Amino acid sequence: MDPKLRVGLKFPIYLDHHATTPTDPRVAAAMEPYFTERFGNAASASHIFGWRAEAAVEEARERLAAAIGAADGREIVFTSGTTEADNLALKGIARAYRSHRDHLITLKTEHPAVLESCAALEKEGFRVTVLAVDRFGLVDPDDIRRAIGARTGLVSVMAANSEIGVLQPLEAIGRICRDRGVLFHTDAAQAVGKIPIDVEALGVDLLSMCAHKLYGPPGIGALYVRNRRPQIRIEPLFHGGGQERGFRSGSLSLPLIVGFAEAVDLCLGSLEEESARVQELRDLLWARLREGLEDLQQNGHPDRRLPGNLNVAFAGVEADALIASLRDVALSSGSACSSASPEPSRVLRALGLSDAWSRASLRFGLGRWNTREEIEWVAERLIALVRELREKGRGGGPGPPSSPSNSKG
Ligand SMILES: *Cc1c(COP(=O)(O)O)cnc(C)c1O
Repeated sequence: MDPKLRVGLKFPIYLDHHATTPTDPRVAAAMEPYFTERFGNAASASHIFGWRAEAAVEEARERLAAAIGAADGREIVFTSGTTEADNLALKGIARAYRSHRDHLITLKTEHPAVLESCAALEKEGFRVTVLAVDRFGLVDPDDIRRAIGARTGLVSVMAANSEIGVLQPLEAIGRICRDRGVLFHTDAAQAVGKIPIDVEALGVDLLSMCAHKLYGPPGIGALYVRNRRPQIRIEPLFHGGGQERGFRSGSLSLPLIVGFAEAVDLCLGSLEEESARVQELRDLLWARLREGLEDLQQNGHPDRRLPGNLNVAFAGVEADALIASLRDVALSSGSACSSASPEPSRVLRALGLSDAWSRASLRFGLGRWNTREEIEWVAERLIALVRELREKGRGGGPGPPSSPSNSKG
């Protein structure tokens, strides 16, 4: 490697923005006073500390609601993150409507927070239909239409996938759900702040999101719950003081809530420019890799994807070996959320990729502070390493798989 290329770069280079993002210093600064002189419990109704806290929470609620096109701040229920919001949406709706609607519909490519909540509900006696996706990772809205029955209560489809970045056709799904009187939930953890999201235009009734994917603090998220037409009931997961209209008991974290709203507003303030900038870097990375290497393919949809997402399979290479050799770059082969399991990615498998191609796949997540110089450097290093690993592999290891699809198609 040419040492001159390293001049001006800061290592390690972070390309794992789907796993989490750093808190923007402007967000941290906005939060700071709420740890100290402006602290307070928003439920303390008898003094200025409580009143001030409540005012700050209500203002944040309004800003977050506005950010997703919701009519009313009261439709925002604060949670600890997206996992909790997903659990609250799925279990809360299923249990509240169980007497006449005990069927849920979701996709094979959903986040474990949704799929494992569904598995837990199946143990309670609910029925769950888990729909397949096409080779790009997209669901056919007609499959959802056909899966809806008289006892279907909820459809849950994520807005943007955390591994392949594919953007699902929310608006079409929302229309179908509305027509059939079925509630529509979307996990939008990867989408809010990156692409425009409007719960009214999309016909979304419940939406999960969190701050740490959009340059806000970790440990805070929210579930949007539509308040009118229809008014939605939810069986709470936590019982206690009845905060958040009874949907989620527990004292609110004032600094995290203030930081969440600040982070979302910063994202929306530069959404178009920033997504164009990040997408240009992503396209540059893909172009460089294609110029420098043969036998690679992009996983997911070529253009219906998050601006900062690229998922690439390098034939004949184990992604984990690649990551281990690429010490100066923070990268992941799939979802950090299921990294405890050595299994090949469920998402890539759902696209029809063989296990060998899944294990040859790297996920790039570009974000706010990545630069062109970083991307040029990473591309150059990757090309050299892939060539090196392929060379080694030819000395007796299994050859590169010849086709991305497995025999089942
Ligand atoms: C990160 C992520 C989650 C989990 O969010 P936490 O805040 O870590 O609980 C859920 N769904 C998607 C799509 C994600 O990207």
